[in-house]
Amino acid sequence: MYISKRVQSIKPSPTLAIDAKAKTLKAQGIDIISFGTGEPDFDTPQNIKDAAIDAINKGFTKYCPVSGTPDLKDAIINKFKTENKLEYTREEVIVSCGGKHSIYNLFQTIFDEGDEVIIPAPYWVSYPDMAVLAGAVPVFITTSDKNHFKVKPTEIEKVITKKTKAFILNSPSNPTGNTYTKEELEEIADICIKNNLLIISDEIYEKLVYDNFKFFSIAQVSQKVKEHTIIINGVSKAFAMTGWRIGYTAGPKEIISAMTKIQSQSTSCPTSISLKAATAALNGDKQCLETMRKEFEKRRNYIVDRLNKIEGITCLKPEGAFYVFPNISGLLGKKYNGKLINTDIGLADYLLEHAKIAIVPGSAFGAEGFMRLSYATSMDNIIKGMDRLEKALK
Ligand code: PLP
Repeated sequence: MYISKRVQSIKPSPTLAIDAKAKTLKAQGIDIISFGTGEPDFDTPQNIKDAAIDAINKGFTKYCPVSGTPDLKDAIINKFKTENKLEYTREEVIVSCGGKHSIYNLFQTIFDEGDEVIIPAPYWVSYPDMAVLAGAVPVFITTSDKNHFKVKPTEIEKVITKKTKAFILNSPSNPTGNTYTKEELEEIADICIKNNLLIISDEIYEKLVYDNFKFFSIAQVSQKVKEHTIIINGVSKAFAMTGWRIGYTAGPKEIISAMTKIQSQSTSCPTSISLKAATAALNGDKQCLETMRKEFEKRRNYIVDRLNKIEGITCLKPEGAFYVFPNISGLLGKKYNGKLINTDIGLADYLLEHAKIAIVPGSAFGAEGFMRLSYATSMDNIIKGMDRLEKALK
């Protein structure tokens, strides 16, 4: 009875819930193979851990500046300059407690009650609920695997109203792994600028791209586009640092300053030790990134190949992130022990119960008839999991 209407209007993260369920079953001694996790299975590289240990030993354990330490901000600025050819100042960057926190702060900063935000579906599970918590109204554009889950500029134009404030772009995408080319981004940017929309570009999977795909940030399209773009990024996925909780935002000074105000009244600075670790990650040797990226590419090739061999499943080969998002509509409508399985949620339940594999149903991401499998798990697990999947579906 004390719970606010705001909180009653949202649901808990379904991906974290499935992950928790798989971990609980594992803890009970049940041999579950999880394709549910959205985090690298690799350990955080040693140079990053050493920097954190050093920070503890040197007593770097006190409050820091709210928006992040100058040395980490400089490392972020240098990353944008050298890797994306984008120039930012310290006033245009804020470090938060994970990319999720960055987006949360941003939504609280920019949305008023009733503002509309365009979200292409399938989408990362947290965008709609975080928008609702900020009083905004999510407006979805459904994309299809036939079109590689890409939104067309004309589709964006169609849903723009006087209330539309922002457009969310996530390339490479969670859950589909799809990416946009420079040319496609130019067209999207054009529509957004013409309609005075803020572009929110979530680039957290930037480093995880395959087949020689060259990542391009929409902010690179032009100076004008950069002025209308907020970039979200972080160290979680690229450096296997999900538990360290460091994400960052770059964009116009007024927005960053307003986000800093919110952060000063909520979490204050991110953890001092993690700030040092993230600085070491961004300034350090990047060979570890390439080692992990190559391994992910190998796993992606294997899992896509196996999935496409199963009758009733079709799976695109995405160029990024560490997810595949096969179409499983060909499996629905069948019965097991007299029970009809006609939804992706029903299929996920069946697979957890009978094949002991955890996957996330597509409807969690606004795409019924699909399922998301994360290949951020060992090759041995992937092989075993695919064997189980194949057997259970036969
Ligand atoms: N954006 C997307 C698309 C994600 O998939 C995630 C994590 O799953 C995040 C942001 C947040 O990452 P972090 O762990 O840094 O909060």
